[in-house]
Amino acid sequence: MSNFWFGEGIRKGRKTEKFPFAQPDDPPARPSGLEGSGEPYCPTEAIKNGKWDQGKCIFCRLCEPEYQPTGRQDIFSVKKTEPALKKSFYIYKLDSGTCGACNVELGTIFDPQFDANRLNIFATNSPRHADAIVIMGILAEGMREALKNAYEAMPEPKLIIALGACAISGGILGDSPMVREDYHVEIAGCPPSPYTILEALARARGD
Ligand code: SF4
Ligand code: SF4
Repeated sequence: MSNFWFGEGIRKGRKTEKFPFAQPDDPPARPSGLEGSGEPYCPTEAIKNGKWDQGKCIFCRLCEPEYQPTGRQDIFSVKKTEPALKKSFYIYKLDSGTCGACNVELGTIFDPQFDANRLNIFATNSPRHADAIVIMGILAEGMREALKNAYEAMPEPKLIIALGACAISGGILGDSPMVREDYHVEIAGCPPSPYTILEALARARGD
Protein backbone atom coordinates (compact mmCIF):
# COMPACT_ATOMS: atom_id res chain seq x y z
CA MET A 1 0.00 0.00 0.00
CA SER A 2 2.80 2.41 0.88
CA ASN A 3 4.29 1.72 -2.56
CA PHE A 4 1.01 2.88 -4.08
CA TRP A 5 1.15 6.25 -2.28
CA PHE A 6 4.84 6.60 -3.04
CA GLY A 7 4.02 6.08 -6.73
CA GLU A 8 1.14 8.56 -6.54
CA GLY A 9 3.45 11.15 -5.00
CA ILE A 10 5.98 10.74 -7.82
CA ARG A 11 3.27 10.83 -10.49
CA LYS A 12 1.37 13.90 -9.23
CA GLY A 13 4.30 15.91 -7.92
CA ARG A 14 4.50 18.21 -4.93
CA LYS A 15 1.13 19.07 -3.41
CA THR A 16 2.12 21.48 -0.64
CA GLU A 17 0.48 24.89 -1.03
CA LYS A 18 2.61 27.88 -1.92
CA PHE A 19 0.62 30.00 0.54
CA PRO A 20 1.49 32.49 2.04
CA PHE A 21 3.81 33.26 -0.92
CA ALA A 22 0.89 32.85 -3.34
CA GLN A 23 -2.86 33.05 -3.01
CA PRO A 24 -4.60 30.05 -1.38
CA ASP A 25 -5.55 27.23 -3.77
CA ASP A 26 -9.08 26.89 -2.42
CA PRO A 27 -9.82 29.23 0.51
CA PRO A 28 -12.93 28.53 2.60
CA ALA A 29 -15.82 31.00 2.59
CA ARG A 30 -16.42 30.29 6.27
CA PRO A 31 -14.58 31.32 8.26
CA SER A 32 -13.43 34.35 6.34
CA GLY A 33 -13.99 38.09 6.54
CA LEU A 34 -17.58 39.33 6.75
CA GLU A 35 -18.98 42.43 5.08
CA GLY A 36 -22.38 44.00 5.30
CA SER A 37 -24.50 46.61 6.96
CA GLY A 38 -27.30 46.96 9.48
CA GLU A 39 -27.84 45.43 12.90
CA PRO A 40 -28.89 41.80 12.37
CA TYR A 41 -29.22 39.49 15.38
CA CYS A 42 -25.85 38.15 16.50
CA PRO A 43 -25.65 35.72 19.45
CA THR A 44 -22.17 36.88 20.49
CA GLU A 45 -22.67 40.59 19.76
CA ALA A 46 -19.92 40.42 17.15
CA ILE A 47 -21.90 43.02 15.22
CA LYS A 48 -22.47 46.18 17.16
CA ASN A 49 -23.17 49.69 15.88
CA GLY A 50 -22.60 48.48 12.34
CA LYS A 51 -19.09 47.17 13.11
CA TRP A 52 -17.97 43.54 12.92
CA ASP A 53 -15.63 42.23 15.61
CA GLN A 54 -13.89 39.22 14.05
CA GLY A 55 -12.67 38.00 17.45
CA LYS A 56 -16.23 37.53 18.70
CA CYS A 57 -17.61 35.91 15.56
CA ILE A 58 -18.46 32.20 15.67
CA PHE A 59 -19.43 32.17 11.96
CA CYS A 60 -22.93 30.85 12.67
CA ARG A 61 -24.39 32.70 9.63
CA LEU A 62 -27.36 34.08 11.58
CA CYS A 63 -26.51 37.55 10.27
CA GLU A 64 -27.06 36.53 6.65
CA PRO A 65 -28.18 37.91 4.26
CA GLU A 66 -27.25 41.34 5.69
CA TYR A 67 -23.65 40.17 6.16
CA GLN A 68 -21.85 37.95 3.64
CA PRO A 69 -18.44 36.23 3.65
CA THR A 70 -15.68 37.89 1.64
CA GLY A 71 -13.39 34.86 1.39
CA ARG A 72 -10.52 36.88 2.88
CA GLN A 73 -8.37 34.74 5.13
CA ASP A 74 -6.49 37.55 6.89
CA ILE A 75 -8.84 37.68 9.88
CA PHE A 76 -6.18 38.04 12.55
CA SER A 77 -4.50 40.87 14.41
CA VAL A 78 -0.87 41.16 15.47
CA LYS A 79 0.03 43.67 18.20
CA LYS A 80 3.62 42.54 18.78
CA THR A 81 6.16 40.89 16.50
CA GLU A 82 9.39 39.03 17.26
CA PRO A 83 11.73 39.15 14.23
CA ALA A 84 14.25 37.03 16.18
CA LEU A 85 11.96 34.07 15.50
CA LYS A 86 12.27 34.16 11.71
CA LYS A 87 14.67 31.21 11.52
CA SER A 88 13.11 29.11 14.25
CA PHE A 89 9.66 29.58 15.74
CA TYR A 90 8.41 27.00 18.22
CA ILE A 91 4.81 27.08 19.42
CA TYR A 92 3.37 25.39 22.49
CA LYS A 93 -0.32 24.49 22.19
CA LEU A 94 -2.49 24.81 25.26
CA ASP A 95 -6.09 23.59 25.24
CA SER A 96 -7.79 25.42 28.10
CA GLY A 97 -11.26 24.11 27.20
CA THR A 98 -12.00 23.54 23.53
CA CYS A 99 -14.60 21.58 21.60
CA GLY A 100 -11.67 19.99 19.76
CA ALA A 101 -12.00 21.77 16.44
CA CYS A 102 -9.39 24.46 17.09
CA ASN A 103 -6.87 21.72 17.94
CA VAL A 104 -7.61 19.93 14.68
CA GLU A 105 -7.16 23.05 12.54
CA LEU A 106 -3.93 24.00 14.31
CA GLY A 107 -2.63 20.48 13.72
CA THR A 108 -3.49 20.82 10.04
CA ILE A 109 -0.81 23.45 9.46
CA PHE A 110 1.80 20.75 10.01
CA ASP A 111 0.20 18.41 7.46
CA PRO A 112 1.77 18.01 3.98
CA GLN A 113 -0.79 20.42 2.45
CA PHE A 114 0.41 23.38 4.53
CA ASP A 115 3.76 22.14 5.89
CA ALA A 116 4.47 24.88 8.44
CA ASN A 117 7.98 23.48 8.87
CA ARG A 118 8.94 24.97 5.47
CA LEU A 119 8.36 28.38 7.13
CA ASN A 120 10.54 27.41 10.12
CA ILE A 121 7.45 27.04 12.31
CA PHE A 122 7.48 24.03 14.62
CA ALA A 123 5.51 22.64 17.54
CA THR A 124 6.97 21.66 20.91
CA ASN A 125 5.45 19.76 23.79
CA SER A 126 7.37 21.76 26.39
CA PRO A 127 6.71 25.40 27.26
CA ARG A 128 10.39 25.66 28.24
CA HIS A 129 11.32 25.26 24.58
CA ALA A 130 8.57 27.51 23.22
CA ASP A 131 8.66 30.98 21.71
CA ALA A 132 4.88 31.36 21.77
CA ILE A 133 1.98 29.86 23.63
CA VAL A 134 -1.10 29.25 21.49
CA ILE A 135 -4.15 29.24 23.74
CA MET A 136 -7.33 27.57 22.50
CA GLY A 137 -10.74 27.34 24.14
CA ILE A 138 -12.57 28.93 27.02
CA LEU A 139 -11.11 28.76 30.52
CA ALA A 140 -12.05 25.45 32.11
CA GLU A 141 -11.46 25.89 35.84
CA GLY A 142 -9.06 22.97 36.04
CA MET A 143 -6.78 24.56 33.43
CA ARG A 144 -6.19 27.84 35.28
CA GLU A 145 -3.08 26.55 37.07
CA ALA A 146 -1.77 24.76 33.95
CA LEU A 147 -2.01 27.97 31.95
CA LYS A 148 -0.19 29.97 34.62
CA ASN A 149 2.57 27.35 34.95
CA ALA A 150 3.08 27.08 31.19
CA TYR A 151 3.29 30.84 30.79
CA GLU A 152 5.82 31.20 33.60
CA ALA A 153 7.95 28.34 32.26
CA MET A 154 8.42 30.00 28.87
CA PRO A 155 11.65 31.94 28.26
CA GLU A 156 11.63 35.56 27.09
CA PRO A 157 10.83 36.86 24.56
CA LYS A 158 7.49 35.10 24.40
CA LEU A 159 4.36 35.68 22.42
CA ILE A 160 0.85 35.01 23.67
CA ILE A 161 -1.48 33.92 20.89
CA ALA A 162 -5.25 33.40 21.10
CA LEU A 163 -6.61 30.89 18.60
CA GLY A 164 -10.33 30.94 17.93
CA ALA A 165 -13.33 32.85 19.24
CA CYS A 166 -13.38 31.02 22.59
CA ALA A 167 -9.84 32.02 23.49
CA ILE A 168 -10.21 35.56 22.18
CA SER A 169 -13.58 36.51 23.62
CA GLY A 170 -15.22 33.45 25.14
CA GLY A 171 -17.21 32.92 21.94
CA ILE A 172 -20.58 31.45 22.75
CA LEU A 173 -19.37 28.97 25.37
CA GLY A 174 -17.94 30.84 28.36
CA ASP A 175 -15.12 33.08 29.50
CA SER A 176 -11.85 33.57 27.68
CA PRO A 177 -8.70 32.44 29.50
CA MET A 178 -7.08 35.90 29.36
CA VAL A 179 -8.24 39.47 28.91
CA ARG A 180 -8.08 40.46 25.29
CA GLU A 181 -5.57 43.26 25.80
CA ASP A 182 -2.95 40.74 27.02
CA TYR A 183 -2.84 38.77 23.76
CA HIS A 184 -0.13 39.69 21.26
CA VAL A 185 -1.87 37.90 18.41
CA GLU A 186 -5.54 37.09 17.85
CA ILE A 187 -6.49 34.50 15.23
CA ALA A 188 -10.21 34.64 14.50
CA GLY A 189 -12.47 31.77 13.48
CA CYS A 190 -14.55 29.04 15.03
CA PRO A 191 -12.36 27.23 14.29
CA PRO A 192 -9.83 29.38 12.36
CA SER A 193 -8.82 28.18 8.92
CA PRO A 194 -5.25 26.85 8.46
CA TYR A 195 -4.61 29.70 6.01
CA THR A 196 -5.43 32.26 8.69
CA ILE A 197 -3.35 30.45 11.31
CA LEU A 198 -0.32 30.10 9.04
CA GLU A 199 -0.33 33.72 7.91
CA ALA A 200 -0.88 35.03 11.46
CA LEU A 201 2.09 33.02 12.78
CA ALA A 202 4.27 34.28 9.92
CA ARG A 203 3.24 37.88 10.62
CA ALA A 204 3.90 37.44 14.35
CA ARG A 205 7.61 37.26 13.57
CA GLY A 206 7.47 40.24 11.24
CA ASP A 207 7.18 38.53 7.82
S1 SF4 B 1 -21.76 34.88 11.70
FE1 SF4 B 1 -22.90 34.67 13.65
S2 SF4 B 1 -21.45 35.32 15.21
FE2 SF4 B 1 -20.63 36.05 13.27
S3 SF4 B 1 -21.37 38.12 13.06
FE3 SF4 B 1 -22.85 36.80 12.01
S4 SF4 B 1 -24.39 36.31 13.54
FE4 SF4 B 1 -22.62 37.12 14.65
S1 SF4 C 1 -13.49 28.70 18.94
FE1 SF4 C 1 -15.11 27.38 18.09
S2 SF4 C 1 -13.95 25.67 17.27
FE2 SF4 C 1 -12.58 26.71 18.69
S3 SF4 C 1 -12.87 25.66 20.65
FE3 SF4 C 1 -14.30 27.38 20.58
S4 SF4 C 1 -16.22 26.49 19.82
FE4 SF4 C 1 -14.59 25.07 19.32
